[in-house]
Amino acid sequence: MNFVSLPALQQPQWPDRDRLDAVARSLEALPPLVLAAECDQLKGRLAAVARGEAFLLQGGDCAETFAGSTADSIRGKFQTLLQMAVVLTYAASVPVVKIGRMAGQFGKPRSAATEVRDGLELPVYRGDAVNGIEFTRADRTPDPGRLLEAYHCASATLNLCRSLASGGFADLRQVHAWNQDFVAGSPAGQRYEQLADDIERAITFMHACGADPREFRAVEFYSSHEALLLDYERPLTRVDSRNGHVYDLSAHLLWIGERTRDPRGAHVEFASRIRNPIAVKVGPNATAQNVLELAEILDPDEEPGRLTVTTRMGARRIREALPALVEKVSASRAPVVWVCDPMHGNTVESASGMKTRNFDDVLDEVAGFFEVHRALGTHPGGIHIEFTGDDVTECVGGGHRIAESDLSYRYETTCDPRLNRSQSLDLAFRVAGLYRH
Ligand code: PEP
Ligand code: MN
Repeated sequence: MNFVSLPALQQPQWPDRDRLDAVARSLEALPPLVLAAECDQLKGRLAAVARGEAFLLQGGDCAETFAGSTADSIRGKFQTLLQMAVVLTYAASVPVVKIGRMAGQFGKPRSAATEVRDGLELPVYRGDAVNGIEFTRADRTPDPGRLLEAYHCASATLNLCRSLASGGFADLRQVHAWNQDFVAGSPAGQRYEQLADDIERAITFMHACGADPREFRAVEFYSSHEALLLDYERPLTRVDSRNGHVYDLSAHLLWIGERTRDPRGAHVEFASRIRNPIAVKVGPNATAQNVLELAEILDPDEEPGRLTVTTRMGARRIREALPALVEKVSASRAPVVWVCDPMHGNTVESASGMKTRNFDDVLDEVAGFFEVHRALGTHPGGIHIEFTGDDVTECVGGGHRIAESDLSYRYETTCDPRLNRSQSLDLAFRVAGLYRH
């Protein structure tokens, strides 16, 4: 299906077009990763978020890796997301729509095409779907075969997530078990334990009353990634046999990044032609006019749940930059979903040259996001974060007070620094507090 005609930024220079074409044919022949009906269902959930009746929790690695697609790592992320969701559901009394930044987040936009080390210039790492991270010519040369490997890793990841979501692991009666390996020594873990006690009592009471709702035994989980690599997205785009509509079935929700949201670029054109729910990331330099123009292209019919605007302003900019966008966009069209990405506007370099984020900045941007929406009477619809279930040391601050000098202890990300499990839970408690007030 070739319906992208406009120029595409951030695409790899594949060395072998024939191989790329062969890979595209293989991908076209493979089954979809999700179903169009599930994308529609998510759209319905997001419509509820836009109306102010639910909250969106979206997150996962900045960049998933093939080596990191292990049972432990996937379960760790899923479990952390579940814990965050339960904190929000219980402490803020709001239904939570859960979307993993998982099962397809294998491509990365970069600020430069090449990287120089000791006089050697090589292509920059663009994510495991494109090339390897080692600084060797062999690893850094884009390999179309990696698109197929990305598909298979996404498939295995989603398969495990679907089982975890419906096979008993996500049963609310497991609310304590999700925390088992975690309580000791973590303030967020201990706080969670108390909340889990309350939930357990409530469930026991309901069971005693004879109620055992299906919603307590399984969760709905959706997948998402940035629709960046068009050579991956296009072959996974299919016509829905129910109605002839076109969906990108590589994930339930696709988003357009800050670097590729040119209204006259291929990414926006592609997104405009698929029926999935779409998010678009906007930074502090975006004007209300820019957002309205994107909304007009991506969601001309103002379809409920179709469009999410994910703002990533930075803690220092959000209070001045967000109000005009929210005010003008809400004044001129049906509600969109407003989501706060408190990560990408708060990346700094540590003294030793490592990319990091300060947990206080992350919290402050989320607080600013709530303040702006509360002041305008609009709905702070959700958060989009980069996190992992592992005890990494990539963002400074938080309950364990990770210092800059601790960063090298467990710095494992291949791209941006992620919140660890304790920081993620802590954030969930803070967001629940902001939501209630
Ligand atoms: C990302 O989500 O990893 C990313 C690159 O974000 P943005 O497009 O907002 O910069
Ligand atoms: Mn990132």
